[in-house]
Amino acid sequence: MVVQDLKMHFPVTAGLLKRQVGAVKAVDGVSFSIKRGQTLGIVGESGSGKSTVGNCLLQRYKITSGDIFFEGHNLKDVTKHALRSMRKQMQMITQDPFASLDPRMDIQGAISEGMRIHHMGTAKEREETVVRMMEMVGLNPQFRHRFPHEFSGGQRQRISIARALALQPTFIVCDEVVSALDVSIQAQVINILEDLQDKFNFTYLFISHDLAMVRHISDQVGVMYLGNLVEYAEVNELYDNMMHPYTKALISAEPVADPDKAEASQRIVLQGDVPSPINPGPGCPFRSRCQYAKEVCACEKPELKKINEKHFVACHLFE
Ligand code: SF4
Repeated sequence: MVVQDLKMHFPVTAGLLKRQVGAVKAVDGVSFSIKRGQTLGIVGESGSGKSTVGNCLLQRYKITSGDIFFEGHNLKDVTKHALRSMRKQMQMITQDPFASLDPRMDIQGAISEGMRIHHMGTAKEREETVVRMMEMVGLNPQFRHRFPHEFSGGQRQRISIARALALQPTFIVCDEVVSALDVSIQAQVINILEDLQDKFNFTYLFISHDLAMVRHISDQVGVMYLGNLVEYAEVNELYDNMMHPYTKALISAEPVADPDKAEASQRIVLQGDVPSPINPGPGCPFRSRCQYAKEVCACEKPELKKINEKHFVACHLFE
């Protein structure tokens, strides 16, 4: 998956005629690539555009501009028919499985729904797939005629994973998949995702605000702020040698288990307001909260520049 200069601006309309008076720049020129079988973690505050990136990759929005290459094809250029079959290969697992499961549909129906829509196999083959998928995610297939409310939160998340797997995807967007779960259940779900990646060579975009989880599961990490990718690096390089002031503030807020280290680590509390995504103005989007902001930061937006083979950062301090 290669993403080049992706922009997703949502129009803001006003008046009776609903004329466009502006645009919310939810994603404003993001570029990255994810190798097959690897995981890119995306971190950032709420409203930074993380989930919008995931939805754009899955073609749930008509993107404003930019290019998304999947398995060698630019998704902009493929026919509707080809896009439909590609969508099967790109799946999403969300934070709230209960919201994405129809309460009146049993689990057999929920897991096989996508296969039915894409005309995959006969009814018997689909049932066999449901049994296989449930076993794969550690659910008892005998419960396949039960309904979503009869399962716990962790089990419902497993059902969501089984449902995504049933379509034999190669790329999966995991959007805050464990945020709503207890810590012990989080570990189980993450283990399932890792096992499946080892087995099927899945590519993941792992969106989360849990930095420890992102560090554990990712090969690369991208840090987003106000629709922009401000730092992007190989996982150990980012955590050992973070450069962008926003990344430092974000990681300083991460709880430290070791009391000695916790005492030594200093939390960076950001002051100032987040600019409006409708009119962020020229210059660096982080300038209103950055303690290192200089004159150039107010008028020139820093580009994501290569620091070394594994590390990119968008900040005038490193030019
Ligand atoms: Fe701070 Fe300027 Fe770097 Fe932006 S470009 S993060 S304002 S120093």
